[in-house]
Amino acid sequence: MRSFKSLARPASRALSSRSKQFAPATIIHGVRHASSSKHPQGFEAPTPADLTELRERVHEFTRREIPEEVAAHTDKSNAFPNEMWPKLGEAGFLGMTADEAYGGPGHGLPGALRRHGGDVAGERVHRAQLRGALAAISLNGSAEQKQKYLPGLVAGTSVGALAMSESGAGSDVVSMRTTAKPVDGGYLLNGTKMWITNGPDADVIVVYAKTEPEKGSKGITAFLVQTKSEGFSCARKLDKMGMRGSNTGELAFSDVFVPSENILGKVNGGVRVLMEGLDLERLVLSAGPLGIMQAALDVALPFSHQRKQFGTPIAHNQFVQGKLADMYTKMQASKAYTYNTARAVDEEGIIKTQDCAGAILYAAERATECTLDCIQLLGGMGYVEEMPASRLLRDAKLYEIGAGTSEIRRMVIGRAFNKEFAHFAS
Ligand SMILES: Cc1cc2nc3c(=O)[nH]c(=O)nc-3n(C[C@H](O)[C@H](O)[C@H](O)COP(=O)(O)OP(=O)(O)OC[C@H]3O[C@@H](n4cnc5c(N)ncnc54)[C@H](O)[C@@H]3O)c2cc1C
Repeated sequence: MRSFKSLARPASRALSSRSKQFAPATIIHGVRHASSSKHPQGFEAPTPADLTELRERVHEFTRREIPEEVAAHTDKSNAFPNEMWPKLGEAGFLGMTADEAYGGPGHGLPGALRRHGGDVAGERVHRAQLRGALAAISLNGSAEQKQKYLPGLVAGTSVGALAMSESGAGSDVVSMRTTAKPVDGGYLLNGTKMWITNGPDADVIVVYAKTEPEKGSKGITAFLVQTKSEGFSCARKLDKMGMRGSNTGELAFSDVFVPSENILGKVNGGVRVLMEGLDLERLVLSAGPLGIMQAALDVALPFSHQRKQFGTPIAHNQFVQGKLADMYTKMQASKAYTYNTARAVDEEGIIKTQDCAGAILYAAERATECTLDCIQLLGGMGYVEEMPASRLLRDAKLYEIGAGTSEIRRMVIGRAFNKEFAHFAS
């Protein structure tokens, strides 16, 4: 088997000089290859064989490192096994979106997500590394910032987080109140951030703060904050209903000095940094529910064929078959939507806002339904913690809330149509 590194096939000959957001597709060996400004440098779309190989590697890793006992223990203890970070880094799963120059294999985000589709433990990786600090730095960092932070994040020797939300500013994130006041050589940050994935463990956090509060969304700046800085603290670790293998915290900033060289992007350009990665964050996240739906079927199918009532396996009952069929078709439809949207990004350079939001909206809601069906099919065993069904439901629900709620995703899709059909109104 080729090593993961060998899957990086820099296509600099065809793709290196892209300066526009969307480069035209090229055809290499009969396969369309395209890239956007969101892809790593030298990106070449993976072949189906690459995807199969890497999917197998992810499955093999999760079977070996995250068996059911580890998953159940992590859920109970509400703590991520931090020794997993370097293992994930070593396996090459943290830096899939980073340029090769900084230790990444140079794969596209959606390519990475397709490979991660079955990894239900991936929320933490996706939220906080692939689409969190690592992506924000990859897309917006200076050469010095990339050199300083990316290799550690890719290797798993340092942990990243991204802090936008505050207790009073979630869906309406630009109403944030954390401030950054200019002082000699940098800024002083004051405020709090809520629900921050990896917050309790992070070494470096991308923090959004108001540099000119009176300018509203045009007065926000993104900063790279090292958590060893004086005045930074994780006020508390949150006790969540699900995704308990992902440490989430409330962060406090009290006169935290951040040097000017740690500004990510431009002063007052924070919303651009924030928005730039949103479409792909939604698309990448849509892979999580696919893994959860598969896991729900992996539990429900054997159970319903083993469990006998009225002298026959319950799966021979048409009501039960209906539930299994619904779970299966919902998973396959969600997969098709996510994979198709991802393929368009990687192979044609097309990033469609309504499809990125649509893929996660659809998959997240279907995953909650599938996991509820899984519990129902297990009867009493679905309601006890000896079986993983309740954990799957609790984990699935986050995908309807985190990184934007289902309601906001519907709004995003509606607004994309408003833009597309604006000429009808004039
Ligand atoms: C486990 C977890 C991890 C997270 N990780 C991070 C992280 O790493 N970094 C980070 O910055 N944030 C993170 N978040 C925060 C997350 O992005 C927010 O919780 C989310 O955006 C919703 O914001 P809110 O909780 O303030 O809900 P609110 O915005 O208060 O919404 C409450 C309800 O009102 C609805 N609603 C709000 N506005 C409208 C509207 N205009 N129209 C219709 N309905 C509306 C919402 O859909 C929701 O149902 C995380 C959250 C969780 C739970």
